[in-house]
Amino acid sequence: MIDNTPFILALPKGRVYEDFIPCLQETRFALKDDPNKSRKMLLDTKCPEVKVLVIRGWDVPTYITSGAAHLGIVGKDILMEKEEEEFVELSDLKLGQCRLSLAGTENILTGSSKLKIATKYPKSATKFMNSIGIQAEIIYLNGAQEIAPILGLSDAIIDLVDTGKTLEENGLKEIETISEISTRLIANKASLKTKSDLINEIKEALTK
Ligand code: AMP
Repeated sequence: MIDNTPFILALPKGRVYEDFIPCLQETRFALKDDPNKSRKMLLDTKCPEVKVLVIRGWDVPTYITSGAAHLGIVGKDILMEKEEEEFVELSDLKLGQCRLSLAGTENILTGSSKLKIATKYPKSATKFMNSIGIQAEIIYLNGAQEIAPILGLSDAIIDLVDTGKTLEENGLKEIETISEISTRLIANKASLKTKSDLINEIKEALTK
């Protein structure tokens, strides 16, 4: 039976997307629509059977697990929070490199048995704090975690750090690196068998 359904590559909006588009545009899967001028979420590529879906990074694992999208690009920070979902991590695209770190005022760890941690990574934060023998009370924040300790909402934060400028400008210090983070290529498990040719071709084109 001929399968006429398009092959869908899911891309996250934002920082990763800006880094990734130049890589994609050098391949035969280059976007035909200008993503900056269009509000379409499913974009055509130069390859008629491949479409690009533009969604929030946090939703990429869900689309891949369900099979609604076949391949996805997403940060390792998100994958660590979504480890119960069923996807296969194929490669490290070495884009969006940064680290997930614990930050706060100096000496925050000294003598503490419990700390309030502001983060959008509750699983990674709880796991890390347990590993250093400190109980974490998680304050879930979707952004601007850096301001939470200054205003007394939390004792420390666990967030992505790149240059360290945001921490510095908000009077915080990077205390421990929890994990190195970069952008990964993930695939739906079943698609690895049924769409292996396209998956391998896209993977090779993107990891050159
Ligand atoms: P920086 O000041 O360069 O250390 O960047 C820190 C800010 O940028 C924090 O608010 C982070 O959440 C965010 N950030 C840093 N790197 C990334 C990344 N690779 N992807 C998404 N957000 C990031």
